[in-house]
Formats: sequence, structure tokens, C-alpha cells
Amino acid sequence: MLPGSMDTIRNWINGRAAESKSERHGEVFNPATGEVQKSVGFSTVPEVDEAVANAKAALASWQHASIATRTRVLFAYRELVNRNKNEIAKLLTMEHGKVLSDALGEVTRGLEVVEYACGLAELLKGEISENVSTEVDSYSMRQPVGVVAGITPFNFPAMVPMWMYPMALACGNTFVLKPSERDPSVTLYCAQLLKEAGLPDGVFNVVHGDKVAVDRLLDHPDVGALSFVGSTPIAKYIYETGTRNGKRVQALGGAKNHMVVLPDADMDLAADAAVGAGYGSAGERCMAISVLVAVGNAADRLIPKIMERIAALKVGNGLDPESQMGPLITRAHRDKVASYVGRGAEEGAAVLVDGRTLKVKGHENGFFLGPTLLDHVKPGMSCYQDEIFGPVLGVSRVATYEEAIRMIHEHPYGNGTAIFTNDGGAARKFRHEIQVGMVGINVPIPVPMSYYSFGGWKQSLFGDLHIYGPDGIRFYTRNKVVIERWPDPRFRGVDLGFPQNK
Ligand code: NAD
Repeated sequence: MLPGSMDTIRNWINGRAAESKSERHGEVFNPATGEVQKSVGFSTVPEVDEAVANAKAALASWQHASIATRTRVLFAYRELVNRNKNEIAKLLTMEHGKVLSDALGEVTRGLEVVEYACGLAELLKGEISENVSTEVDSYSMRQPVGVVAGITPFNFPAMVPMWMYPMALACGNTFVLKPSERDPSVTLYCAQLLKEAGLPDGVFNVVHGDKVAVDRLLDHPDVGALSFVGSTPIAKYIYETGTRNGKRVQALGGAKNHMVVLPDADMDLAADAAVGAGYGSAGERCMAISVLVAVGNAADRLIPKIMERIAALKVGNGLDPESQMGPLITRAHRDKVASYVGRGAEEGAAVLVDGRTLKVKGHENGFFLGPTLLDHVKPGMSCYQDEIFGPVLGVSRVATYEEAIRMIHEHPYGNGTAIFTNDGGAARKFRHEIQVGMVGINVPIPVPMSYYSFGGWKQSLFGDLHIYGPDGIRFYTRNKVVIERWPDPRFRGVDLGFPQNK
């Protein structure tokens, strides 16, 4: 089903797989075995230009396609993704490494955005006011931006692109996607399903590659808007460059999510949540919990429960249904994550569980790192300040609720956070005052449903609008307001004055 040979992952331009013209390419690994399984061409500037030119040509008809037509294509796509979700999940596991059940969850959450976009008939309704002045009516409508681009990270190769293109296509835009070069096959599979669903050629295009392709999208005069999801330094660069070039940009960045545990919390519930949210997908989630802020005596009661659960975790090849946690994306990333454990110990953290010693039998060359637990983590330590993006959970001990809040507020990121407590008043106070975009109460990973929008605060998002949901509709459309009158002969005549509303 994958277009092209199994070895080379190609661009998708104007409804077909395109031969790579690049001399540069990247290796796509199977992280569980450490073997290179495919290669991907890194697009040149002319290849990106070709994709944008096709998207621009397709815009002429797609932006005028009826609401009924656009809905039917999205609905058919929803059915195709649903029918093929196991296949997509498998492809994803083989390049990303996450376990199959997690990959399937990713596809399902992406699918929810497609389902939301199927409601475009309701979502794109404008507003109307009769008689804004005597016999004058006014109304608004939302129209597509034009050619829009998406640049996405490695950690959700199916879901994060689905945060973007179903919304953009529903609004009548055409799309150029630059997926992560580390696990690019899923995108191509989805491009083929879009075609099968009846999407006209050129409406959705994929260019693989690195900074060269991204920079061309940032510069291209025919690209009207860019959605980016990835690390904070790149998000900031994309936002600054794109907006300087006059484009609309939303750029979602990295995270360091704190989970506050108050002494009155249900410690079994909190331990289950911390282990799931800290080590799920090997910690390679922007909504992963990476710091547990234990208030009062919570740490002493929580840590033994967490250690018990870690001891029972099965780490292995994501394709093995027994595995609960897979490898990291590359060897270099694995080594970088491991280096934070060593540095944490040097800076005064206690290593309670050391994942660096893990060996996965039969997968000695895989990029595995076991679940790691650090205690006495403090602001200022690199393992506290930086986004590690691996299976390393730190515990910070604080005396009071106020101290916990101060830590969260002083951290540069503000993506997600959670509080675990049985005190409704404390939970309410937390959700009201916390300076973070997505908040969980006894829920460790509060990813908003498709009909809300997803986005962090502070260094976790650059731009004004969150992604998908109602903000997605706003981002991918421009508002137009019309004032209309069918003149009555009584009101004719020249009037040079600014009209007074009567
Ligand atoms: P990344 O920033 O390295 O790459 C993201 C995209 O940018 C990729 O397509 C990549 O090819 C491109 N890119 C990389 N370097 C570039 C450069 N110098 N110039 C132009 N483009 C460049 O991120 P990643 O490692 O793929 O993904 C992990 C990061 O993404 C983490 O920081 C994670 O928190 C973040 N993330 C955030 C969210 C969110 O919603 N806030 C969601 C998922 C992932």
C-alpha cells in the first residue's frame, strides 16, 4: 500500500508519489532493533515550490467546492482511517517505537479531529444582523486563507498532522505538509487514503525533509499560514520568521509538565497516573508528566507505590503485545536522555530507579532506556529546567501548596499540568490561578477533546490561537463582514458626511 518501494519514502505531490530529486536523504530506523529500514529524500527548494504550485492550482476549485462536497470527502476519509487504523498503528510503531496500543490511541485521537472537521457545515456558519441601520443588514462569513503549510514533530506522526490538515481542508484551504523526517511513512499512507476518499489532486501534498524544506515554506510568497508543532527553539524561530514574512503562524513548542500531589490525594490513584503519564510512549509526549511536585509528606507515601509499579513494567519491542513501553526514537536521543540522569545525580538528585542499566533481550541494539525515577529534584538542576523528553520522572519535595504553585509559575514552559487531591476547594483554586494552558484535576494528561482547542501558554506556544477545535477554524479562515442595502428611492442622494446610524 505504501507508495514507492519499501526502501524509499517519497514526496506526495498532486495526488501521486514523486521521485526524489534530492542528493540528500535521511535514515529511518526501526528503534526497537536499531536497524535502518528505509531512507527518505530531503526535499530541495524546487521540490517544495512544485508542491506549493500544485496546492495553489488546486485552490481555485477546492475553495469553491460546496460544503456538501467537502463534508463527503472528510467523512469518507474518516471511514478509511478507521478501517485501516491497525495498519497505520503498526507502521507508526515500526518507525516511532511506541507500543501498538499507544499507537492505536494516537490514531483514534487524531480521528476525533477528522470527525469534528466533518461538522464543517455548522462550524463555518457566519452571523447576521438585520436592520443594523434602517433597512440595512450586516453579516459575516469565514473564508479560507489559501495555501497553508504544516510542520510536524516525530512523536505523534499520525495525530499531530491530523490536528491540522482535516481542519484546514474543511475550511477550503489546500495543504502542504512537512512531516518529521524520522518517521515519515504514516503521512504518505494517509495521503493515499485522502485520495481514495475523493480529495482532488493537489489539495493535499507532502514534502519530506529538514530545515531546507521548512525555510522554503517560511519564505514562499504563496503560503498564507503555517502551523508548527515541535520543540521550543524551532517553534520560536518558525513564529518569528513566518510572521516577519507576513504569514499567519501558530507554533506549539516543548513542555515540562508538573503534577502536584497534595497530602490528601488518593496515593494509589496518583501513583497509577504518574507512572502512566511519566513513562507512556517512553516519555516522548509533549503532555508527559516529568515532574511530580509532592506537597508535605506526599513523597514518602507516593514513591514506594511508584517504585512498585515501575518494577512491574514490561519494556520491549512495541510490536510485542506484552510490551508497555518501547524504545526512544534514535540512539542519539537515547544517549541525550541518559546524560540527564548522570547530570541529575551530579547536581544532587537521588537516582532511585536507573533505567540506564536496562537490557532488552534479543534487542541489544535497540534504543531502549528503562523507566527512571529521580528524587530531590530542584529548580536550577538541568533535569528540572530542561525538557528531557524521555522516561525520566523527577520528584520535587515542597512543604506547601503555595511553593508548588510558585515552581510551576517560575518554569518557562506552560503546556499542561495536573493536581491530585480529594479537596474540591484546593482543586478549584488550582485551576483558577495556575498559569498553564491545559489543566487536569485527578487527570494526569489533560489533552482537550477535538471540540475544544489544544495549546499551552508561555514558551509552549507562540501565536494567538490554539490548534484544532474552534481555534482551528479561526486560524484557517479569514473573517469577512458585509453591510448590505437595497436602496429605497427615498434615501437616494449625495451625502458627503460620515453616515449617522439611524
Ligand atoms: P523538532 O523541533 O526537532 O522538529 C519539529 C519539526 O521541525 C520537524 O518537522 C523538523 O524537521 C523541523 N525542524 C527541526 N529543526 C529545524 C530547523 N533548525 N529549522 C527548521 N525546521 C526544523 O521536534 P521533534 O524532536 O520532532 O519533536 C519533539 C518536540 O516536539 C518536543 O519538544 C515536544 O514537546 C514537542 N511537541 C510539542 C507538542 C505541543 O503540542 N506543544 C506536541 C508534540 C510535540
